[in-house]
Amino acid sequence: LSGYDIRQIKNDFPILNQSVNGHKLVWLDNAATTQKPRAVIDATSRFYERDNSNIHRAAHTLAARATDAFEGAREKLQRFIGAHEAAEIVFVRGTTEAINLVAQSYGRANIGAGDEILITTIEHHANIVPWQLLAKQTGAVLRVAPVNDKGELLLEQFAALLSGRTKIVAVTHVANALGTINPIEQIIALAHAYGVPVLVDAAQSSPHLPLNVAALDADFLVLSGHKVYGPTGIGILYGKRELLEAMPPWQGGGHMIRDVTFTHTEFQGLPEKFEAGTPDIAGAVGLGAAVDYLEQIGLPAIAAHEHALLEYATAEFERLPDVRIIGTAAAKASVLSFVVKGHDVTDVAKYLDSYGIAARSGHHCAQPALRRFGVEATVRASFGLYNSFEDVDTLVSTLRLLVRH
Ligand code: PMP
Repeated sequence: LSGYDIRQIKNDFPILNQSVNGHKLVWLDNAATTQKPRAVIDATSRFYERDNSNIHRAAHTLAARATDAFEGAREKLQRFIGAHEAAEIVFVRGTTEAINLVAQSYGRANIGAGDEILITTIEHHANIVPWQLLAKQTGAVLRVAPVNDKGELLLEQFAALLSGRTKIVAVTHVANALGTINPIEQIIALAHAYGVPVLVDAAQSSPHLPLNVAALDADFLVLSGHKVYGPTGIGILYGKRELLEAMPPWQGGGHMIRDVTFTHTEFQGLPEKFEAGTPDIAGAVGLGAAVDYLEQIGLPAIAAHEHALLEYATAEFERLPDVRIIGTAAAKASVLSFVVKGHDVTDVAKYLDSYGIAARSGHHCAQPALRRFGVEATVRASFGLYNSFEDVDTLVSTLRLLVRH
């Protein structure tokens, strides 16, 4: 791939330069979390070394610097996802908190007994459980759109589940356990034909595909910083201004108020209304540095590189005896979920680890998705922007050693 210097990119990530169990570390657990480039580590430590202060409402210099850094990060995230204005970006702990916020604030205000919430079979638990909690609280009903044997959403059946009762659609853009890329444009168009807002879970798509909420016409979009090479503990909720404005606050506390008496509180406008308490300021600064880093390389180049890796790895896996790939959608991003006949998934992951390869085993917080394919757990190798064809070769040759045993 011309212009994509994998050696230079690997050098940007200090953690990759180590041996694990006597072998060079091969990090293939990117769907769980990604490693951090030097630029993110430096931005975070520079913040603590020079600028650390609580933000807003202070006259001193460091407070102004910290506020500028925090709000500057918000603008970077706005550009990263193509939102119209920075006020539509709410900093949260991550995807999980963002979905809970929408379920409890938008959901409690707009979804009642007998109303329907529509998700798909291949969601992460973070896009199932918050809706179940809401359904329990309100008497709403959770509907689930099915997928075919490849793990592709059955769009006609999805469309047939939409009705006047549907009050929100919440779908993942890329499925974490299978890698399926959902046809998000069509999903949004179908839902909007019924006037139903759509929440896009971009936790897995944000590191791999260019996002533009304005072009998509997404109503809500959520992502986690730690999946886009940023820190843990920080993420964003994007919401269209008119939706966020109409939503009641979720958590109450400092920062989110304009005036408080013991009988009445006036809330701030967007986005502060949803940011009660001291946020993860350094986390936001680190996340801003992460999206700068991604933009410098370019999401289209990253997507092309990772697509080539996945195609190569898939072809190699198909030649491995006793290995079954779970999730064979035509449109996939960066995830190879698999089981090995005669071998427990944990044993496979431990075997890989003994050769320095980090891959995840388990249900990947997507039990209903895996059960659709008759398995409780898989081994998952997931690629990031720093993975090389050599990394794939190491994975495949190590698996070949295992299946020969
Ligand atoms: N949705 C998807 C598709 C995910 O992959 C993940 C993380 N595995 C989440 C939601 C939850 O993200 P977090 O744990 O960062 O809140």
